[in-house]
Amino acid sequence: MCGIVGYTGTKEAYPIVITGLKRLEYRGYDSTGVALLNNGLKVYKKKGRVSDLEEAIIGMDLHAHTGIGHTRWATHGEPSDVNAHPHTSASGKLAMIHNGIIENYTQLKKELTNKGYVFTSETDTEVLLNFIEDIKENNQCDLEEAVRVALKRVTGAYVILLLDSENPDTIIAARKGSPLVIGVGKGEHFLGSDASPMLEYTKEVVYVNDYELAIVRPDELILKNLGNEKITPFVTRLDMELAAIEKGGYDHFMLKEIFEQPSTIHDCLRGRLDAAAGTITMKGIQDNIQHFINANRIIIVACGTSWHAALLAEYIIEELCRIPVEVEYASEFRYRNPIINKGDIIIAISQSGETADTLVAIERAKENGAIIFGIVNVVGSSIARISNGGAYTHAGPEIGVASTKAFTGQLAVLTMMALKIAKEKGTISDERYTDLLFELEAVPEKVDAILKTAEQLKTIALKYKGAADALYLGRGYNFPIALEGALKLKEISYIHAEGYPAAEMKHGPIALVDENLPVVFIATKDSYHEKIVSNIQEIKARKGKVIAIITEGDDLIPGMADDVFYVPPADEIIAPMLSTIPMQLLSYYMGIARGVDVDKPRNLAKSVTVE
Ligand code: GLU
Repeated sequence: MCGIVGYTGTKEAYPIVITGLKRLEYRGYDSTGVALLNNGLKVYKKKGRVSDLEEAIIGMDLHAHTGIGHTRWATHGEPSDVNAHPHTSASGKLAMIHNGIIENYTQLKKELTNKGYVFTSETDTEVLLNFIEDIKENNQCDLEEAVRVALKRVTGAYVILLLDSENPDTIIAARKGSPLVIGVGKGEHFLGSDASPMLEYTKEVVYVNDYELAIVRPDELILKNLGNEKITPFVTRLDMELAAIEKGGYDHFMLKEIFEQPSTIHDCLRGRLDAAAGTITMKGIQDNIQHFINANRIIIVACGTSWHAALLAEYIIEELCRIPVEVEYASEFRYRNPIINKGDIIIAISQSGETADTLVAIERAKENGAIIFGIVNVVGSSIARISNGGAYTHAGPEIGVASTKAFTGQLAVLTMMALKIAKEKGTISDERYTDLLFELEAVPEKVDAILKTAEQLKTIALKYKGAADALYLGRGYNFPIALEGALKLKEISYIHAEGYPAAEMKHGPIALVDENLPVVFIATKDSYHEKIVSNIQEIKARKGKVIAIITEGDDLIPGMADDVFYVPPADEIIAPMLSTIPMQLLSYYMGIARGVDVDKPRNLAKSVTVE
């Protein structure tokens, strides 16, 4: 979380930094700030969105060729003007922005307070900045050296960008745990939490690694490790266009991303799945196929929506590949001393590829000899780089805070993986394999058909927009979709919602049912269909309002439900990729009806780079 931007070169820095911050706002929107270096430092910062700061500083002196900017997701100290970044050091000579958490900041703060330092903010960032300044002054060294010395004492995660009023044109940057991309231009350099701030200027980028320090000047990029040894920057070429991060005529990124799914799922399958030839080409799987075939166990670690993809993958992999699968919340897994045997396969799922908990979880598992397989959306991200093998979801940049197209991309990748492993392992019949390949290939077209009827969900949303709570129920492959539907509704509409296995609701949640409670059933035609029909009856008998997602041609459920929404028929393993689409749309329309800023819902941010 937190977006950081930097620029040094011959152009005006402010417009580049402020535009970059708008693109990174999905990472946090508690406050915004910029520091500009031009014969001294100018710092402007304010609680609120990027546009609030932009408006507040119209007419100010914004001229500079070097600058940094920050959009915050608060961890230490409430969102406020004083806690906003950049922070300025006690002497006023240094300015710093930070993404992450300095875990030992209380200790450092105590040491500095004893020396007479006074802090104006509640942030861990201001402590680190003054710690750096203190070293610089005591050791009579330059900023680069002071940063190196300071970081050896720091525990936690960070990307930091620093400006020194006595060192023109220079940005000092360092990272551990949070992402940092440096764009290389002609006589200019760009820095960002991701590549979006630099897209229209350069396609040549360097992904900075943990424990690396960068000295960035217009004509020079020096990378070093914390031992002061130089590292040759590895320049990669970006495969992303500006249009991919713009709204393209939609009211919200979330809606755009929902409607992109026919093409993003197609992009994910393209070049991999060939149903007519009966092949799935996935290099990451092929390279590790013996490990998968011989695996005693697969553990999938993930957070949030990715965790729901993991849960569905457990059902699919166990069914098709007959390999035991465990699904873990990364934040629990990393701290609970789990048993990992050599040869266990860990699959890590993360949209951003930077999720802090997932990243540390797999680092630990890798140390214990596990094979790490990463499924991420952001190309070149940290999880992708530390994995032994992996597969990208190819959904393109996801900017809406609530994940939609990245989720269906994860499901497409996981289903292809399961099919490929099952085929190689011989745990699937030829006929079932071929059927599922064709079923998967047909998903983009079916999603397209669902989106054509999206307006029906708007009508349903308007009917239930006043609800205080909602229950989402599903069985089997649709149970993870019930969880995902409930999460989406909470995130985007602030309605309290719970997802449950439909049969399990008798053991507690049914007590909540009355005539005011909407209950969303994901009840597509599958081997559990008759069972879920009984569950619908149980809710109706208690006067609950039933919204049912059903398969075209179902003539039973419409007679019992208050509202129905149809999806095209599909094999039960594939159906969740379809039934999740109405979940996304229902939340979106509910959120809009309740006046929520759906792309930036309160308290949330994307790319969770803090614990
Ligand atoms: N810890 C810093 C703060 O609270 C940065 C937060 C973050 O990166 O999410 O301001």
